[in-house]
Amino acid sequence: MTTNSEKVALVTGSATGIGLACAQAFAKAGYITVLTDIDDPKEQARELVSAGYKALSRRCDVSDTRAVEETVDWVAATLGRLDAALNNAGIQTPQRPMAEITDDEFDRTVAVDLKGVWNCMRYEIRQMLRQGGGTIVNTSSQGGVTGFPGQAAYIACKHAVIGLTRTAALDYASRNIRINAICPGVIRTPMAEELMRRNPLLEKELVRDIPAGRLGSPEEIANAVLWLSSPQASFIDGHALLVDGGFSIH
Ligand code: NAD
Repeated sequence: MTTNSEKVALVTGSATGIGLACAQAFAKAGYITVLTDIDDPKEQARELVSAGYKALSRRCDVSDTRAVEETVDWVAATLGRLDAALNNAGIQTPQRPMAEITDDEFDRTVAVDLKGVWNCMRYEIRQMLRQGGGTIVNTSSQGGVTGFPGQAAYIACKHAVIGLTRTAALDYASRNIRINAICPGVIRTPMAEELMRRNPLLEKELVRDIPAGRLGSPEEIANAVLWLSSPQASFIDGHALLVDGGFSIH
């Protein structure tokens, strides 16, 4: 059980990349932080605990409705509450023109990138209703407001995450639950490195279109997520916040 001053944060897909940076930021800001991923990120949680922060970990495949329900129930039973959730787990579709993406690739992308967010929000919201409020941030993308060649299934999901965020925000604004989306630009993580490995010219092409002249870091996304989850953002609801070095200005 927590004391009243200890807030609890849950981050999905937090073994690496943006999710790990966000979990580290929540822990450093004083949240008891629960790291989850498709494989238990216990080493990452252990490192935080060794550094003096409060963190737990658990395996959770966000595409598995029952596993998500059990995870949120476990957080509530173990820590007594859930104040801030970041629904971050995501996968890329293999880069191919739309008509060449297979049904299986489409279905798996939707299962993780859209149904995964849906699953998490449902159980997080039920817990937040029981305790009287909370905040949720869903990870969309700059691709949630633009197109991107070869990524039709992924981009469709990231657009849908913004629609889901806005609608759920309307449903629960009066119940003290704020729900926003974060839209990262190109951030140097294993997911982005994998895309650039497959297309060595990609980094140069991407940077050319980023007014800031560089890729972003996971920590720059974590700063924005932490702020959206904090009382400093108390009147911000249903917003899709672009953190993209100016890419979407064009
Ligand atoms: P990443 O691949 O480095 O990390 C994603 C994490 O999600 C991994 O730890 C992975 O194991 C986990 N994951 C995958 N499937 C899962 C499942 N079914 N259940 C639970 N966990 C699962 O990616 P990242 O770049 O850190 O991306 C994090 C989020 O940010 C994703 O939603 C991604 O779409 C989004 N995003 C990333 C970028 C970027 O440039 N890196 C840009 C825009 C949006």
